[in-house]
Amino acid sequence: MFGSVYPALEELKQPLSEEQLTVLRNQLKSEEPKPSPQTQFNYAWGLLKSPTRKHQQEAVVILTSLYKQEPSMRREVLYYLSLGSFKLGDYSNAKRYIETLLKSEPENSQALSLLENINDKIAQEGLIGIGVAGGVLAVGVGIIGALVRRTTAVIKQFNDLNLKSGKPATRSNGVTEWTVLASVVAIDDNRIVPITLATGVKVLPDKVRSYSQGGVVHDMHAEVLALRLFNYFLLEEAMNPQSSWIERRHKLKFKDVKLALFVSEPPCGDASMNYLSSSLESNEAWASSRTGSFVRGRNNFDQLGVVRTKPGRTDSLISYSKSCSDKLCLKQLTGICNAATAHIFEPIYLDYLVVNKVGVADFDRCFKSRFQTEHVHYLELLPYDTDAYEFHKADDKEPCPLSLLYVVPLNVHQVLNNGVKNGAFVKNRAPKPGGESIISNNSFMKMLCRLCQIDQPTYNSFKMADTERQALKCSGQKLLRNWRHTSIDNFDL
Ligand SMILES: [Zn+2]
Repeated sequence: MFGSVYPALEELKQPLSEEQLTVLRNQLKSEEPKPSPQTQFNYAWGLLKSPTRKHQQEAVVILTSLYKQEPSMRREVLYYLSLGSFKLGDYSNAKRYIETLLKSEPENSQALSLLENINDKIAQEGLIGIGVAGGVLAVGVGIIGALVRRTTAVIKQFNDLNLKSGKPATRSNGVTEWTVLASVVAIDDNRIVPITLATGVKVLPDKVRSYSQGGVVHDMHAEVLALRLFNYFLLEEAMNPQSSWIERRHKLKFKDVKLALFVSEPPCGDASMNYLSSSLESNEAWASSRTGSFVRGRNNFDQLGVVRTKPGRTDSLISYSKSCSDKLCLKQLTGICNAATAHIFEPIYLDYLVVNKVGVADFDRCFKSRFQTEHVHYLELLPYDTDAYEFHKADDKEPCPLSLLYVVPLNVHQVLNNGVKNGAFVKNRAPKPGGESIISNNSFMKMLCRLCQIDQPTYNSFKMADTERQALKCSGQKLLRNWRHTSIDNFDL
């Protein structure tokens, strides 16, 4: 049954029937008190294929004892131990076992493929590690330093998060990755409650909107993702009749808390222009390359207070997505609800931007002086003093292509790649069915339709029907000037 054959990972997902497992168990019992190694091995494999965690753990116990008893079977046992640990989510041991096997069988293609799968998992889990190990603590210590000076609640929260800790992956060529972390945090009665955590530095070209059908997240800058994820949290809470975060009035009202947005780097665009220019070798403005009436990325960095698109390499396909500074500025007027949540929630505003390396003059220009109008909920700048975030940008690092989304109170997480669920990306197409992220517009509308009836035929007509919100957005965009719109990403409801 086993010999030198190493089953592929897929076989782990094919459980035996209850009868088949009973046959193996009976064989083991019939050979008591000293069952043959092969019989033990067969039973362990049967258990490993089971979806029950207890069975999988039992399998690993049998395999561990076989490893000690039967030197002749060690190589196979190592492979199965690695499979078992993988299935249990114990990736560091899975890696250790398979690497030990690879020392004696470096060409073993099944073992190499298993190692690759393990490394992928470690990379994903490592991102969660960033959020927990770096983000939450940094968020907590930062706000507490400025506001409440009580750290125990944060550290408890941090410890209570039952997630694997870990470091981000170093690529096989030895290069390490950097990313930006953002988090929406509630300050509730002097308690610091992180709600969302998100990482990301990418943005997709405008042309993706022509086929994405609401299923792709175009702007994956961490700040934007953390806010989108907050909207997902709102919809989940709206569906939960026991939610302690929501008061049910004519519209839903989010709990009376202060909300802060933490970001591990200054937001791109106007708020970070001086930070960028002082960190460049030459302080001369780059050659003008204004495209029409809007400023692309970091071009013309001597111009301050202007709307910019997301930064990108000059040779990359254009994205008209606005910089995080501009988007956050506008949200001071419109609030942080998106089209779907604004339909059922009263407006919700951010109170603080928690970030380092943004000067007061830059902050005031970006968020206040260029945005003088009525009914604005101006952000307050809070620098933080202890920076426990380990994955800042550096010259020798590469940007991480993946984005991690994590909703702390719901313990929900998802990894995005190219704007869709990791693994669901199809070039030049909308994602495979079910491949949309939980924070795509499409997913948001599906959630909303479970909460109330929507009578509009398309997403765009639904958005336009909220004339009050549209008018508010337009007046804010007008005030900021040069607000170049992205192409429309419409879909049927
Ligand atoms: Zn940004």
